[in-house]
Amino acid sequence: MPDWKTIRADFPVLHQQVNGKPLVYLDNAATAQKPRSVIEALVNYYERDNSNVHRGLHALSMRATNAYEGARARVAQFINAADPAEIIFTRGTTESINIVARSWSHAHLKPGDVVLTTEMEHHSNLVPWQQAAKASGATLKYVPVLGENAEGGLDLAALDQLLTKDVKLFAFTHISNSLGTINPAKELCRKARAVGAITVIDAAQSIGHMPVDVQDLDCDFLAFSGHKMCGPTGIGVLYGRRALLDKLAPDETGGGMVVTVDYKGATWKPSPERFEAGTPNVADAIALGAACDYLDAVDRAVIAKHSNELGQLAYQKLSEIPGIRLLGPTGERAGLVSFAFKDVHAHDVVTFADEDGLALRGGHHCNQPLMRKLGLTSTTRASFYLYNTAEEIDVLVASMRRIQKFFGSE
Ligand SMILES: *Cc1c(COP(=O)(O)O)cnc(C)c1O
Repeated sequence: MPDWKTIRADFPVLHQQVNGKPLVYLDNAATAQKPRSVIEALVNYYERDNSNVHRGLHALSMRATNAYEGARARVAQFINAADPAEIIFTRGTTESINIVARSWSHAHLKPGDVVLTTEMEHHSNLVPWQQAAKASGATLKYVPVLGENAEGGLDLAALDQLLTKDVKLFAFTHISNSLGTINPAKELCRKARAVGAITVIDAAQSIGHMPVDVQDLDCDFLAFSGHKMCGPTGIGVLYGRRALLDKLAPDETGGGMVVTVDYKGATWKPSPERFEAGTPNVADAIALGAACDYLDAVDRAVIAKHSNELGQLAYQKLSEIPGIRLLGPTGERAGLVSFAFKDVHAHDVVTFADEDGLALRGGHHCNQPLMRKLGLTSTTRASFYLYNTAEEIDVLVASMRRIQKFFGSE
């Protein structure tokens, strides 16, 4: 077992007071904090190696190129990709999914085809598919969630009905950012493959929280963001199977991604360069590699156990408060809880909790259609990570009890 106290000490931002109270940071599903090693990777790069990559022959450019390509190999190892060329650096999950939704859909979707997604998707894994369906004439369908609090997860019987030969692509989230549901991603990929559909996994919530192995999952594409796994903002990854990527047209064009250009046209390099037009985000890619090192040193299986246990503990303790409605699974769940008070708006909950030093999030969590289906406009969400503790859940529960007393009709 790691020493959780030492881990907490690795994160400088956690050691401060907010409104006179120790900061209790429970907004990890929106963005995670950064350990000192990741911050230092950024500082070291800018202080020692900063240079443009790929096109230079001088010492700094070669160092920067080696570090950038080293980060790509590190990320490939982190998700067990077969080849570093399958790792495309992007701005984040949103951009990664948009690349597939534009490039792949444009070449492969036609009227009569079906794109399948689920009712629990983040807008980032929903709106790009709506756009792709509109542009191609394909139909978008949704796997329903079960239960009045979505406690039953995805309706797998409905999925079997929906997975016909017309389904060309199935895009789904690994972990729901508003429910805490952990989807059986490997099984979902297997079912999709059986009807010949391509799979896209939104791994934004899972990547830093549990082991993710793209070969074991047997997915075709997988998207994630650096900032939710202790890395910097502005960097993310699109993983794609090599055979698919090399057949895909580029999404953006420009410098760095071409082999030859004349006044009539151009030819493309293979992946990953084909999808990385322009100067890439070198510094943040290198720091993302440092985040991989940090998380692997702790061990993602251990992190999963820790944060999932905090999720269950918070669910159980909050469910004892009168007038509170909790969403998502009642048993095993990811390290986050989403809930609503009968009489108090989530924005008031978050503002009140801030007085207690708590960082929570209130709103629709980029899941408007799901909220509407559950008869809600917003929820309050507390999300946990490796540096959070059971004592912090006591602070959360005490704060929620205070709010319930203040506003509640108990
Ligand atoms: C955060 C999140 C996204 C979007 O990530 P960005 O970093 O904002 O691009 C997509 N899906 C899920 C499940 C998320 O939690």
